[in-house]
Amino acid sequence: MKIIMLGAPGAGKGTQAKKIAAKYGIPHISTGDIFRANIKEGTELGRKAKEYMDQGLLVPDELTCDLVVDRISQPDASNGYVLDGFPRTIPQAEALTKALEARGEKIDYAIDVTVPDENIVSRMSGRRACLKCGATYHLVYNPPKKEGVCDNCGAELVLRDDDKPETVQKRLNVYHAQTQPLIDYYSKAGVLFSVDGTQDIDKVFADIVAKLG
Ligand code: ADP
Ligand code: AMP
Repeated sequence: MKIIMLGAPGAGKGTQAKKIAAKYGIPHISTGDIFRANIKEGTELGRKAKEYMDQGLLVPDELTCDLVVDRISQPDASNGYVLDGFPRTIPQAEALTKALEARGEKIDYAIDVTVPDENIVSRMSGRRACLKCGATYHLVYNPPKKEGVCDNCGAELVLRDDDKPETVQKRLNVYHAQTQPLIDYYSKAGVLFSVDGTQDIDKVFADIVAKLG
């Protein structure tokens, strides 16, 4: 099963993608996590990506597309995957479609997690991330067992630099201008469904599972 998660930053794509990956036994591939891991390791890609991420801008397509095409070609992705945070532009979607077509494959589902902009800023300011294992929490809606500590790996939880309110507004503007057109793209491809992302985390997941079967 090949799945794409769509939705505004903070809509809950990562939260749901991790649950889908666990239930269906497919890898969760997050371009944001890949960039953050590169930043942490101090790679050239990380250095370049950080310049854009800190400003709330998208990393250029030429740094993003090949990376994803390589990742989905790995053996663990042979039965499918859930892509989280990619594609984010029409050229990225076209590059993905082309790479899949070359192998006689296609995306099975694009899941749009809908949350109004008004809810996003509070979601993001309460988000706490583990930069070691990629787990995500929320101070109110999904708190860790011990404040400030990752349940999974025990590392420290942080507020991401790009989750500060001034950057979140910019990311939302970028989402509406560059990423929202993908809803139409995948709707035309006949693979889109939407879920109401304002419901609690388990209810959103139940709605997704009801569609995926
Ligand atoms: P995205 O991957 O779309 O940027 P996340 O999955 O990281 O979003 O979720 C953003 C924040 O909102 C996190 O702190 C997460 O714990 C919280 N969250 C996710 N889904 C819900 C939900 N259905 N209700 C309330 N909070 C949620
Ligand atoms: P995320 O973890 O999905 O919220 O992504 C964090 C940031 O990484 C985004 O705001 C972008 O700067 C960058 N990023 C992640 N995925 C992509 C992508 N597919 N295209 C461009 N930039 C991306």
